[in-house]
Amino acid sequence: MRFSEVIGQDEVKKILTAQVRSGRLPHALLLSGDTGYGTLALALALASYVLCSRQGDNDSCGECSECIKTDKLIHPDLHFSFPVIKKSNGTTTSDTYLKEWLTQLTSEKYFDFNDWLHVIGTDNKQAIIPDDEADNIIRKLSLSAYEGGWKVMIIWLPEKMRTEAANTLLKTLEEPSAKTLFILCAEHPEQMLDTILSRTQRIDVPPLSVEDLAKALMEQRGLDHDTAVSVARVSGGSWLKALKQICDADDSKVMLQSFIQLMRLAYMRDLSGLMKWSEGMVALGREQQKAYLSYMQNMLRENFIYNFGRSELNFMTPQETDFAYKFARFINERNIIRFTEEFAHAQRDVAGNVNGKAIFFNLALKTIILLRA
Ligand SMILES: [Zn+2]
Repeated sequence: MRFSEVIGQDEVKKILTAQVRSGRLPHALLLSGDTGYGTLALALALASYVLCSRQGDNDSCGECSECIKTDKLIHPDLHFSFPVIKKSNGTTTSDTYLKEWLTQLTSEKYFDFNDWLHVIGTDNKQAIIPDDEADNIIRKLSLSAYEGGWKVMIIWLPEKMRTEAANTLLKTLEEPSAKTLFILCAEHPEQMLDTILSRTQRIDVPPLSVEDLAKALMEQRGLDHDTAVSVARVSGGSWLKALKQICDADDSKVMLQSFIQLMRLAYMRDLSGLMKWSEGMVALGREQQKAYLSYMQNMLRENFIYNFGRSELNFMTPQETDFAYKFARFINERNIIRFTEEFAHAQRDVAGNVNGKAIFFNLALKTIILLRA
């Protein structure tokens, strides 16, 4: 990974490359920030820059044999340490899960602790950097560099390191061998030992700007400008949160279609169509049914409010607003209260295990009546 592939973070990139160029790179750097801001991506880009044999002013060359090995994650002087789940038999180190780690990094450099737990097949939040790992790190770094240059050790989430391991590692941090670079990527440095912290140079990685997030959403996910900006605004500077917003938005598109279908069929009094709609709802499963019903109550409220012509009171996507333009007039003071009561009632029935088909077909019939109120 090169700096040019890391989303935003121009200031941090400038600091890091300047340190390398001036030969003032500390032997232990702490990149502190949410994983969604890109701490690991920055660590990988820095490793690539340091190991590159034809380093430019601002980035690795991307073409030399060192760069190719770093990019494929097979550079013999690039090492990783990360939280794992201790196996019941034998010694557990990060290497026990190295295959999973490299597979994850090959497919996606932005991921968080929960994503990683999912990759190693557990939801056990007790994943740690185990005691055995410290010796493993020291052994790797005591070998001379294969390529005669730097040795880089990236430690992801060092706050998950057991105290004993951290104490063992401390000695290496105190007396590092020449041309050894530790890059620690921490979300919660306050959970780390002070003795470790005091031996690292801390760089705070800030939340991504709305502009940088929006640009990445357009380039990497094909969003149009307005959607990208509105997603970026509610993502708190985190690329991971932005991606989650897109997934949620896909869900709400499907729910909007179901809402539109119900309202159209009810307006046309299409009973066989409404029967099919009910069957579709029954097929969803209880949790999704509840999500749909709560989405639809929200849509009814939004459409009612739309009639006041005060857009600052509405919170709808462009697609939802399109539908409201034609539909909102059907939701008014004569039916809004009963409408929301009926949908809330259906939601309670779903939770209370009442026959699904009856709930939704009944709701569809009530919708016919209420639309004409
Ligand atoms: Zn290179």
